[in-house]
Amino acid sequence: MEFIDLKAQYKKLDSKINNNIKKVLNDSHFIMGEEVKILEKELADYVGVKYCLTCANGTDALTIALMALGIKAGDAVFVPSFTFFSTAEVVSLAGATPIFVDSDQRTFNIDFNKLEKAIIKAKNETNLNLKAIIAVDLFGLPANFKEIKRIAEKYNLLIIEDGAQGFGGSIDGKKACSFGDIATTSFFPAKPLGCYGDGGAIFTNNKDYYDLMESIRVHGKGTFKYDNVRIGLNSRLDTLQAAILLPKLEAFKEYELDERNKFAKMYTDKLKDYVKTPFVDEGFVSSWAQYTLIFDNKDERDYVQNRLKDKGIPSMIYYCKPMHKQSVYADYNFNLDDLCVSEILSDTVLSLPMHPYMSGDQINDICNAVLESIEDYKNGK
Ligand SMILES: *Cc1c(COP(=O)(O)O)cnc(C)c1O
Repeated sequence: MEFIDLKAQYKKLDSKINNNIKKVLNDSHFIMGEEVKILEKELADYVGVKYCLTCANGTDALTIALMALGIKAGDAVFVPSFTFFSTAEVVSLAGATPIFVDSDQRTFNIDFNKLEKAIIKAKNETNLNLKAIIAVDLFGLPANFKEIKRIAEKYNLLIIEDGAQGFGGSIDGKKACSFGDIATTSFFPAKPLGCYGDGGAIFTNNKDYYDLMESIRVHGKGTFKYDNVRIGLNSRLDTLQAAILLPKLEAFKEYELDERNKFAKMYTDKLKDYVKTPFVDEGFVSSWAQYTLIFDNKDERDYVQNRLKDKGIPSMIYYCKPMHKQSVYADYNFNLDDLCVSEILSDTVLSLPMHPYMSGDQINDICNAVLESIEDYKNGK
């Protein structure tokens, strides 16, 4: 059994993907070929924003967004502690200061009450310019952008949506990657929409940001590549990756997102009375980048994971260490608030196999194995 079965997806889409690859090889426009433009238009239409810019990966997408927003040394950016490293890394790379905020126990996303507390504390206790919030759509569930927007407006902060895992999710019918001043995503192969290597994209409705980011993407170009008006990056999506993403996006829209939601519901129906299953609030839709359980304690979580492994069922711990516990940030004094939920989550979460090419039988087998392991643990076996 695969944790994420990319081979099954390829088997289903192989002729379309192979034809697209062949076309790119024949055209030989490997950098910024027409597939890149076509994909950007399709992504913007799907997400429901005016502008989409593809780039080399989801981390660069965040970096380009921070550069466009002018975030620099002396600035503070509020980020969840319970996330993938990139979310904080890009802030430090920009020379700014990440301020870690705890997560909501139920949604895994940034806790907006604690966010406001952290903002007030940072205002009173630091000399930093409070600039932005990066909210992450963790495990595919959009962050609570209604509340985050209210807080951002109150304290005059910019919002970046890190939708690396969120692509396809929505709030009240409004798609993930459309929230905030700038939103980003990743096409790393294991993400809800993945390519066959690294890739990323940036979304905005703001023409000025878009123009700036288009320049930053190619060495700070002015009117053309050899006219350099600012410091930028080399961060384009390969034409080959765009050509691979086009049929994958089609499948994602046509059935993959629905299948993910179908399998998530099957998991929840079978498991919810025995272990904490993911909470999705009214109006929210997840793209289920991960299907993640929360156990009562680390010992039970580790026991269940080992038992699943013995039965040939892969599972993963995302994330075993919150940002503020990473050694690079260990001596760091900008953990202004209590981050206990992040720490508890790191010790108790377990993600089960999740992808659109599972079968009902597979879900049943996995659920039975989880339930058996829980029962054995409770019986002290
Ligand atoms: C994967 C991921 C990124 C980075 O994307 P890459 O394409 O791997 O650079 C950023 N943020 C989050 C939350 C992610 O899961």
